[in-house]
Amino acid sequence: MLLLECPYCGVTAEETEFHGGGEAHLKRFGPGSSDDDFETYLFHRENPRGVHFERWRHVTGCGKWFHAARDTATLEVFGTYSAQTTTPPEDLVELIRKKRPGFKWRDIA
Ligand SMILES: [Zn+2]
Repeated sequence: MLLLECPYCGVTAEETEFHGGGEAHLKRFGPGSSDDDFETYLFHRENPRGVHFERWRHVTGCGKWFHAARDTATLEVFGTYSAQTTTPPEDLVELIRKKRPGFKWRDIA
């Protein structure tokens, strides 16, 4: 069972109260960008076995989008945080590093 806490209303609930929205922190490319950048934005997604940053929406509660860091293999949730950030919070990254030595994600090493 996957338990998530909405960072906006503070409710902790099973994943059935939420809706997954795919990978978090995607850099968007639009008109005027190169074909390669646009293709990457549209189609390329990370699919790690381990720590992953995802978008979730609290559909049965406040309705807001947020981000969650979790392990896709163990379902351990490291934390949830505002969707208004372009990178994960540093304190959350430190927590992940303590639990998963050698953790790397994009530019975060
Ligand atoms: Zn909520």
